Amino acid sequence: MKILVGLLFCYAIQAATLRYWVEPCDKPASGCHAGDSELAEWAVQAWQAASAGELTFEKVADEQKAHIRVHWANGNQGLYGETEPILVEGVRGAVVYVLPAAGANGDALMRDAIVYLTCLHETGHALGLAHTAAFADIMYSFTYGGDIPEYFGRYRRLLTSRADIRKHPGMSDADRQRLMALYR
Ligand SMILES: [Zn+2]
Repeated sequence: MKILVGLLFCYAIQAATLRYWVEPCDKPASGCHAGDSELAEWAVQAWQAASAGELTFEKVADEQKAHIRVHWANGNQGLYGETEPILVEGVRGAVVYVLPAAGANGDALMRDAIVYLTCLHETGHALGLAHTAAFADIMYSFTYGGDIPEYFGRYRRLLTSRADIRKHPGMSDADRQRLMALYR
């Protein structure tokens, strides 16, 4: 969620159908849970819905064939995730790293909210979206100094169950407009 060098993302992926792969949670040291793969899928599906038909995502079992590759990572304190651009068969894609162990103070729904929103933010980068300074945006960067607990907390308050995540995509209208500007 925090930062990677912004200029890495000054492109749009040149394809209307993108393949994605999500790492199974088989490295407990990362702090991932078995259901986290589903949260990553929901994030990708949320972008597909936001694209109003311009983008289609296809899940694949072979990581090497995927344009967007989601990994569960652990490591740097205070870092929610990061994204690195790659080329897949001549098409730009990205490897996304999500750190699923960020603090939720024992609140399972808050944890899922953080993992989901981090997946949404990082896959947004994978689609070519850059950071913004608007707190309402999923592409907002914490480097602008916003209230991080409130950033996740406002989304958490929308949820009474994990399934509610599917009802609340998490991006702003401005995020959607920027996505459409890239792909229309
Ligand atoms: Zn970011």
